[in-house]
Amino acid sequence: MLKMAEPIMHHRHPEFTEILTRVNLNLKYLFQTEQPVLTLTSSGTGGVEATFVNLFSPGDTVIAVNGGKFGERWVKMPKAFGLNAVEIKTHWGKAPTQDQVLDALRLHPDAKAVYLVHSETSTGTATDIKTLAAVIREHSKALVCVDGITAIGAHEFRFDEWGIDACVTGSQKGLMIPPGLAFVALSQRAIQAMETAKLPRFYFDLRKALKSHGANDTPWTPAITLVIGVDAALQMIREEGIENVWRRHERLATALREGIRGLGLKLFSDSPSFAVTPVWLPEGVDWKVFNKTLKGKYGITIAGGQDDYAGKIFRISHLGYYDELDMTTMLSALEMTLSGCGYEFELGSGLRAAQAYLTGSA
Ligand SMILES: *Cc1c(COP(=O)(O)O)cnc(C)c1O
Repeated sequence: MLKMAEPIMHHRHPEFTEILTRVNLNLKYLFQTEQPVLTLTSSGTGGVEATFVNLFSPGDTVIAVNGGKFGERWVKMPKAFGLNAVEIKTHWGKAPTQDQVLDALRLHPDAKAVYLVHSETSTGTATDIKTLAAVIREHSKALVCVDGITAIGAHEFRFDEWGIDACVTGSQKGLMIPPGLAFVALSQRAIQAMETAKLPRFYFDLRKALKSHGANDTPWTPAITLVIGVDAALQMIREEGIENVWRRHERLATALREGIRGLGLKLFSDSPSFAVTPVWLPEGVDWKVFNKTLKGKYGITIAGGQDDYAGKIFRISHLGYYDELDMTTMLSALEMTLSGCGYEFELGSGLRAAQAYLTGSA
């Protein structure tokens, strides 16, 4: 935040080139790749749009997994561009299976790509990208495209080793800075596909972005302030070590889940994400009162459920700049709020379960 409060510089000044050079390098570390990772000025959705318009031609078939709000978006978006979108629908809270992906590939052997959401934020559900990418690679020529927007920096992710072709993340998620930047990693196969793809593109023409990237430049004026911010965030990640960052997210997510179970509450997802934990709101507790108390009395911001789950679930984030005490603070506030909302349980039961896990005395 302090870095981003400093006076602005020109984006072709050597001082900025130095920053962008370091960002480009550290993004490769973040995605675990030797391939270029492009920085675009847009939110995460723009980064995914850039993959669609750069990799495909009108009428191409793309398969996308829809297990929540974001997966749903990756079915709607290709349709808007005249692509033939094939949907693999999974229940909210359930991850797609190998068989579902194989069936779709068998029915659509001409599919040019499969889009997977690594961490579906609307349902707090993680997909086994490593396994599914291997299955897709073995059985088809389809590109493996990953929405990594809440997974990158929370879940183990190895772009090169796992054979991923395109992966997108956004600045306001695991990178811990305000929204406004999208990051897109591309494999050699994806870069080749870009050369023959026929969908129109201009601002998001990744051929231009790639060419500039080679010179540690950008085709247009980037969001300079945010690039300066992400430089600091990436250095923090590098210092902690990416494996440690993944482990911390797993540990915090597990501690929180232990606490939730200790309170007698029910978790929503069968395949929990390390970025966000959705929980069923107990019977008789009013979402509006609950949320207002958490925010107004305890200063804690959580998210509600979307679509069919509005008012039925709540979601707690542990993505990015969080530590163990943030989880115990969250549980403590949750207990005091629930107790005021008429939910019956023993005060301290959630906190105790989380502390037992964190101290290894569970
Ligand atoms: C936040 C998010 C997006 C959308 O990103 P925007 O930055 O809002 O465009 C896409 N996918 C997932 C999984 C997300 O969590």
